[in-house]
Amino acid sequence: MRQPKDVFRKLSRTFTSWLRLRIQGDDRLGFKRNLHRLPRQADTLASIEIDWLKTCGIQGIILDLDNTIVSEDDRYLSPRAQEWITQAKLAGLQFFILSNGKRRYRVKFWSHHLDIPSLSPAKKPFPPAFRHAMAHMQLRAKHVVVIGDSLHTDFVGAWLCGCSYIQVATLPHPPRWWEKLAGKWVQQPYPPGHEIWEFDVTKYR
Ligand SMILES: [Mg+2]
Repeated sequence: MRQPKDVFRKLSRTFTSWLRLRIQGDDRLGFKRNLHRLPRQADTLASIEIDWLKTCGIQGIILDLDNTIVSEDDRYLSPRAQEWITQAKLAGLQFFILSNGKRRYRVKFWSHHLDIPSLSPAKKPFPPAFRHAMAHMQLRAKHVVVIGDSLHTDFVGAWLCGCSYIQVATLPHPPRWWEKLAGKWVQQPYPPGHEIWEFDVTKYR
């Protein structure tokens, strides 16, 4: 029969090793690895540090299109977004575009131009499209970050699926009726004076 002293020692050892793993955010405990270190917000896509994403265990990015990469009226582009995507791909990150936009030709154009698979209309925040994207990338939720501009679609979808999320500032665009009422609650305004690129469609033909 075991002595109470041995039982206590064993329990103590188990607790100590659990605590160590908990502090280190070890996957064996089912905790989301280092997700607390990801920034919650960024001005633009290109301002997010690729190395930092990798350090936090991110292997795939579900990307929003409208007002994240290009404004929905096709007037502005997020500066250096394409370059950033190329760099991230070289660093081994996978991408998938989920757009709620109903103009499929537009999503197809950017999907082809950026060489990223896409799905539209994705019906965000409902999980099926996010699950489809994760299955396509063959990644689990803890290795995927959703990057977008809207909390009610991108963030809620990420949260429902267990992915992490980074909100970028919304590119300037004519506000819809609901954005006039509730936009400030779900979007982060583009910082005044921050660099922004005009979208010249002739360069993309
Ligand atoms: Mg958007």
